[in-house]
Amino acid sequence: MRAAAILLFLATPAFAQAPGDPDGWPQHSLDRPQPMIVDPGNGVPPEAPGQPPSDAIVLFDGRDLSAWKSQKDGAAAPWKVEGGCFEVVPKTGGIETARGFGDVQLHIEWMAPEPAAGTGQDRGNSGVFFGGGRYEVQVLDSYGNTTYPDGQAGSLYGQFPPLVNASRAPGQWQAYDIVFEAPRFDAAGKLLKAARVTVFHNGVLVQHAMEFIGPATNKVRTPYSAHPEKLPIGLQDHNHPVRFRNVWLRELQPRQPKP
Ligand code: MG
Repeated sequence: MRAAAILLFLATPAFAQAPGDPDGWPQHSLDRPQPMIVDPGNGVPPEAPGQPPSDAIVLFDGRDLSAWKSQKDGAAAPWKVEGGCFEVVPKTGGIETARGFGDVQLHIEWMAPEPAAGTGQDRGNSGVFFGGGRYEVQVLDSYGNTTYPDGQAGSLYGQFPPLVNASRAPGQWQAYDIVFEAPRFDAAGKLLKAARVTVFHNGVLVQHAMEFIGPATNKVRTPYSAHPEKLPIGLQDHNHPVRFRNVWLRELQPRQPKP
């Protein structure tokens, strides 16, 4: 019982239930400590995309964006597919999965433009959005590029910096492995369970069961409002030609208590 209680404590983010600013830091504070830089080591992600698990839903296998649509008008995803990857076409808007998803394990590989252009948020910016555009795991060129810690690569945008900065240089493939648990609401729209995320960046743990304090928004704190459990997963057009490849997910199955 005691060991179980300790495990539960370890798995629970310390500030998840605290009101206001996460860990007490104002949003986008540049005084917040910069995450330590960690070299992810060789071969992560591997040079060539690996095989997804057998129960994965493949969202991009190098050929086409048929699993995606334009966020603007629901038409075919307007981004460029070339050489086994796809690339943001600036000003065309974000794309999102044609299907909705709730609790998932998502694998996605991305590459910031090389040579790097711009600084801070204006450099290799995109993002992986869960919950129909609400909950962003930031994609940014954070290699030798300082920005506010709650907005760098692997952050829960505007809320929680990554534990460390495991970024690879622009022009190199990077990987996110993300476990996302959708928030739950009761029939009256009251939040029962916050959106929870674990993120590995290039194989290095950067978010451990962290709970979004609400939708990830820029320069404003936005409270939760009820929404369906299954919603599209989106990728952001932030005017930078970020590339993606080898995108797949596994829908997390509910546990099966003995009847
Ligand atoms: Mg972004």
